[in-house]
Amino acid sequence: MIYRLSRENYIFSFSKENQPVLSVHSGDEVEIETMDCFADQIKTDDDKLETLDWNRVNPATGPVFVHEAEPGDVLKVTIRKIEIADQGVVATGKDFGVLGHLLDGLYAKVLQIKDGRVIFTPELSFPLNPMIGVIGVAPEEGEINSGTPGPHGGNLDTKLIGENAILYLPVFVRGALFGLGDLHAAMGDGEIGVSGVEVAGMVRVKLEVIKGKKISNPIVKTSALTATIASAPTLDEAVKTAVEDMAGLLKENTSLSMEEIATLMSAVGNLQVCQVVDPEKTVRFSMPNKIGEKDLLFF
Ligand code: CA
Ligand code: ZN
Repeated sequence: MIYRLSRENYIFSFSKENQPVLSVHSGDEVEIETMDCFADQIKTDDDKLETLDWNRVNPATGPVFVHEAEPGDVLKVTIRKIEIADQGVVATGKDFGVLGHLLDGLYAKVLQIKDGRVIFTPELSFPLNPMIGVIGVAPEEGEINSGTPGPHGGNLDTKLIGENAILYLPVFVRGALFGLGDLHAAMGDGEIGVSGVEVAGMVRVKLEVIKGKKISNPIVKTSALTATIASAPTLDEAVKTAVEDMAGLLKENTSLSMEEIATLMSAVGNLQVCQVVDPEKTVRFSMPNKIGEKDLLFF
């Protein structure tokens, strides 16, 4: 089945208390319409961040209840398609992001998107890299604001989460309670200024439940690589978790010793920063799906 979920069905937190707006079965697809991270409050350069309702940021469309999903399962999210609007917003300001101490006041600018490129100034344009900023499931307990990343996903701001990628999320509650939003027309690793090119749009995902596999943090797979994703208050802590998660995957899926795993990861793996501007920082550790002719087959 293919379902459709409109942007009127949104949440500002991931929680098991959120009422599902759609119920699907494992294997179904959903076309999910999304607002941008400012809940579409900035439409022109006259709309100012000063008057923005900050209680309405980072909306995720959902939650979707997946019948077969039980705590301890894995939710496999295949991103079939990302369509984005023809204009986006970039924003930053004083005390926002890594350069915030060099900035005065708040800054937001509407950018047009044309012929596969973001028009930054009349002289400067750059190619699209459509991706999903917020994507996740309900945590075991409590309520996690949709601006915060974690083991449940959330505001991961990881540029690998784009078209044709597969995201694996741990399931903590019955039905998983999946949601997504905060599309970016483009974003660089780090998201150092606090925004990507924030854009509304539509994402088509296939939702599948995997039984008998347990993961503790999100994992993203592209045609070329598989990456463990970890978030923590500091980059150092996030690095430790992402690296240990990858070592654990290799231990489970190969007959390599821990010494061979450590040296192989050191020789061909990549540790990369996803974002440094959300309440927790996010990094990823990626390994190629194939080494020589050998398929590492994580999933
Ligand atoms: Ca974000
Ligand atoms: Zn965003």
